[in-house]
Amino acid sequence: MGHGWHTVGKEELSRRPCSCGKGFIIVWEIEEESDWHAHNRFDKYTEYACPDKCYSKK
Ligand SMILES: [Zn+2]
Repeated sequence: MGHGWHTVGKEELSRRPCSCGKGFIIVWEIEEESDWHAHNRFDKYTEYACPDKCYSKK
């Protein structure tokens, strides 16, 4: 089922250096609105932005 949500805003909540120090771990808050729903909804996701992808190495 398609829900018809679309993003109307995006805000950076926090940004910290990743473990290797070359990139960042960024937490985003997304605001979405819908054609059929009265209220906007908020969603959070974490973006790992490191050129070395150190977060995937253990
Ligand atoms: Zn890194």
